[in-house]
Amino acid sequence: MNDEFLAKIKELGVHEYGIIPVEKVPFEHEVREMCAANRCGAYAKTWCCPPGCGTEEECKERCMKYKYVLVFSTKTDLEDSFDFEGMTEAMVRHRAVSKQVRTLFREMFGDDFFALSSEGCGNCEKCTYPDAPCRFPKDMMPSVESHGIMVYKEAAEAGIHYINGANTVTYFSNIFFN
Ligand code: SF4
Repeated sequence: MNDEFLAKIKELGVHEYGIIPVEKVPFEHEVREMCAANRCGAYAKTWCCPPGCGTEEECKERCMKYKYVLVFSTKTDLEDSFDFEGMTEAMVRHRAVSKQVRTLFREMFGDDFFALSSEGCGNCEKCTYPDAPCRFPKDMMPSVESHGIMVYKEAAEAGIHYINGANTVTYFSNIFFN
């Protein structure tokens, strides 16, 4: 990771970022319990979310193979706090920005990394889960929460804002790297 990369991700639409050692990532069982409660409606719907993304231990291990994590956010303005259409559009934008950041990382540093994004997958109209393997394993990005990470604590560790003021929505992604 270098200054050129970090300048470019800002141009791609990243709001804030921070880099922390992987030991500082707050893996918490409670997050997986929240997934299982299915508040977001994505539980057991895609290979990107529990239980399809693996056990809590497998997910943690996948992340802990790396030394550092780049934590980054996008921030989108909403009309008001009931602007659900705006929130959905913000999520689509966040996923697009995250994929561009991942592509840039791959171009500049190679394939040895692991990327997480927000809320499910969204790549296919209907996920193959659980009947057949993922159609695009190299293109899917599991959610940060699916890997048991408490996002507000991770944001604090990385020195970036979890909330960015009234009538805004902030989403987070991670890239684990060496
Ligand atoms: S890329 Fe398609 S098949 Fe794979 S997890 Fe995402 S929605 Fe499912």
